[in-house]
Amino acid sequence: MRKLVSTTALIAALGLAACATTTDAPAAPATPVAAAPAAAAATPAPAAAATPAPNTQAVSRVVDLGQGVSMLMGQGGNLGLSVGGDGVFMIDDQYATNAAANLAKIEELAKGKPKYLVNTHWHGDHAGGNEVFAKAGATVFASDAVRKRLSGEVKSVSRQGTVTPPSPKEAWPVVTFVNGVDFHLNGQTIRAIRAPLPAHTDGDVFVYFVEADVLHLGDTYMKDRYPFVDTGSGGTQAGFIAALKKALEIAKPTTKIIPGHGELATRADVEAALAMHEGARAAVEAQIKAGKTLEQTVAAKPLAQWTPRFGGQGSFITDDAYVTVIYNELKK
Ligand SMILES: [Zn+2]
Repeated sequence: MRKLVSTTALIAALGLAACATTTDAPAAPATPVAAAPAAAAATPAPAAAATPAPNTQAVSRVVDLGQGVSMLMGQGGNLGLSVGGDGVFMIDDQYATNAAANLAKIEELAKGKPKYLVNTHWHGDHAGGNEVFAKAGATVFASDAVRKRLSGEVKSVSRQGTVTPPSPKEAWPVVTFVNGVDFHLNGQTIRAIRAPLPAHTDGDVFVYFVEADVLHLGDTYMKDRYPFVDTGSGGTQAGFIAALKKALEIAKPTTKIIPGHGELATRADVEAALAMHEGARAAVEAQIKAGKTLEQTVAAKPLAQWTPRFGGQGSFITDDAYVTVIYNELKK
């Protein structure tokens, strides 16, 4: 149990994409709770004192992007926030476990409770706080696919092969859309735009603040990291290519880009990621055309030229894992 907790804490401490832990988290309680009551009883207080509960901290960094728009960073996905006379608008809400702390922090920053909340996708490190924020008065907007996955109408399978249980009803988006919806608030035209194809998941949405020129890409873009193609939630590698092409149609050279995880990015960073995705796909396809098996393709390290930038510190998807996803998708 302790090993599991400390691994999760380490992931959080390193600021890694908790999309890995998102789908891991629901499966976690079953084994340790059932297996280790005696051990837990034997060493109660020291273990609890030594290991802080994971993902309970409020956002710790506020990046001012102008015109009342900011990026909030902490444990879980990056949040977007618009504050002004028409009310508080936010993008994503991180984990259920830090939602109350985040709500308090946002109320302090914005001098009010959020009225409108858009989920970029359903993962628990981005939409896990929905219940808390909805109960505090926010109306939750998302693509139709996000509601289907949070309600359990469509099953989501974790990387370990377990089906994620439905979220409480209060966490389900109240307003859903297929292609997009515009908000007109705080002097901003705020466009929620559905990704053209399933990419990270089947419900991915971007949010563009037109006047402030800020684009939140959810987990279709994690700065300088190989992507997590969540095939258990309908994700595809081809979708990442389509998503970033769409993002580059929206973004200008000056656009400030909020990644799902990682530091604030630029259009040039997204161009580099798109080139990597396209190059990776072509490199794996060449191996398939040469008759190579999955094992041979992984061993050939076809992504070597991109790994220094996209497979380094902060990446939880290795080059081998990304090669495997692309190979399996092309073989379908
Ligand atoms: Zn995610």
